[in-house]
Amino acid sequence: MTKFKRLLTAVILSAIIISSSGCEFSENTPTIGSEPEISSSESSSSESESLPEISSEPEEIAEPEPVPEPVFKLSSNEVKRGSYFIIRAENIDLSDYSFVDFLGYRREFIATEGGWICFVPIKTDTHPKSYELSFNVGDYSFSERIIVTERNINTQYLTVAPATLEQTLEDEAVRAAFNDFYQKYRWYETGVKFWEGEFMKPLGDSWYRETTKFGTYRTFSNGKTEWHDATDMAVGGGTPIYATNSGVVLFSDYLGLTGNTVVINHGFGVLSWHYHLSTRNVSAGERVEKGDFIGRVGTTGLSTGNHLHFGITIGGTFVDPMELMGSEPDIDFWKESEE
Ligand SMILES: [Zn+2]
Repeated sequence: MTKFKRLLTAVILSAIIISSSGCEFSENTPTIGSEPEISSSESSSSESESLPEISSEPEEIAEPEPVPEPVFKLSSNEVKRGSYFIIRAENIDLSDYSFVDFLGYRREFIATEGGWICFVPIKTDTHPKSYELSFNVGDYSFSERIIVTERNINTQYLTVAPATLEQTLEDEAVRAAFNDFYQKYRWYETGVKFWEGEFMKPLGDSWYRETTKFGTYRTFSNGKTEWHDATDMAVGGGTPIYATNSGVVLFSDYLGLTGNTVVINHGFGVLSWHYHLSTRNVSAGERVEKGDFIGRVGTTGLSTGNHLHFGITIGGTFVDPMELMGSEPDIDFWKESEE
């Protein structure tokens, strides 16, 4: 092989390697007629010498950081109907995928300390049995069994004056207005936590009689039925009502069905609902601290006597409010499990 042929071979080989690597070497690509360094070397070794950047490229790539696997933790696999559990997600970005479908409802993931949480409440009328909780995030699939357990269900027959029923339960417009209100506010979530520490009883130290428990199946004297998904606290008219925790007043107005009504947003999808007040002392948008005076007990709307109807929704569903009194949702449950 002549020197020229050897040079030509080397140049062609180089050109093939360069083009197949996808790189552009316009400045360094040797051309016939110039005096490239490869001309003085053997073609086999000159290939690597003439292409130092290509041959050294793989060595320059640092060891890739191991990508941590997504982790999902449950506060519990077993939950009483009318209560809730929490899903905690880590090592995954859920900003584009931020919900879980379970038992017919969509629950939002909320960004929190080093990860995400999702409250999954279980409606009071859910049949107690094992259910599959599953969802996909990108390539990752999650699946667990959730056992919904029984709760004592009370039944109640409530006699209501026909005139009151006519103006409330039997008035389509009144029912529609309540439905609009409930659907508008139940899912309210701002991604901010307002509550601080334990939730307190809304009547403070006032003595009251629990006339209807959470989860009571009620039949009205006109034959209509409902799940009573709050606690009725009977006490003298005018008794002060306090914010069960810090938050922002979401709604304060009169509704035909629930009378004077106050709803407070405690953040992360936790809301408190107060019905049948005689007077309201707060306005929508107002910031309240735990223990602030928000109104007085009354018997407005569909009510048969002075009492506070007190409800708590978590993630859009009413859960037992008394379970929260003297405690708070344990959004840090995952820290305990790491110890
Ligand atoms: Zn009630």
